[in-house]
Amino acid sequence: MKRPLVVANWKMNPTSLHEARDISLSSDEKGVVICPPFVFMEAVKMNIKNAELGAQDCYLESSGSFTGEISPLMLGNVGCRYVIVGHSERRRVFNELPGIIKDKLKAVLDAGLSPILCVGENSKKDDAERVLEEQLGDIVEYLEDNVIIAYEPVFAIGTGEACSPGLAKKRREHIKEFIRSKRSNIVPSFLYGGSVGPENAACYIEEAGFDGLLVGGASLESDKFNIILQKLGW
Ligand code: PEP
Repeated sequence: MKRPLVVANWKMNPTSLHEARDISLSSDEKGVVICPPFVFMEAVKMNIKNAELGAQDCYLESSGSFTGEISPLMLGNVGCRYVIVGHSERRRVFNELPGIIKDKLKAVLDAGLSPILCVGENSKKDDAERVLEEQLGDIVEYLEDNVIIAYEPVFAIGTGEACSPGLAKKRREHIKEFIRSKRSNIVPSFLYGGSVGPENAACYIEEAGFDGLLVGGASLESDKFNIILQKLGW
């Protein structure tokens, strides 16, 4: 059976190179994608033999006068294969709007990389289906088969309050149906993200039928992360 895809989003952690090296060594498994902070990318690349490299974000141009930004072309050239686009922290903390997210997704695809597009409602009170449709609305026409969609309800991210596998499955089916109604030829794969830990990781794959997981906090704790991988049959 194909291994699920497990994407480790380190966010703005760890703070030192030696910790980044240690964590990457202990996460180096086939089927794992490590998304470190940009400054540690090269060091992580030197340390891994089985895992692949991903980025947490990128800019939408290839090069030029965009101080502080990193382009998808650069990421491809240092060996990155995946780029997270539209993470809820980018939407919320950095005010990224759907138009920018759409342009980033297009830029990642143009560079020949696979975008991991994050979508998810903010709170349990939201009309989740409407929010998901709004987040996908303008983007859906640019989706290609190598786009991976991460369903990440914001209330579950970093809170320890994961979404139940049943509800996550329902949301994924809604997203799938929405995409199918507009682009019947596109079949994206789906990750679940939001407080994944050793106790619930397998449920999203086995019960809810996701193709993989996007793991934040637990991907920085080697013991926890390795138990997650064991629970997935690694
Ligand atoms: C994330 O960063 O996308 C995430 C899901 O974080 P956590 O696993 O910590 O909830």
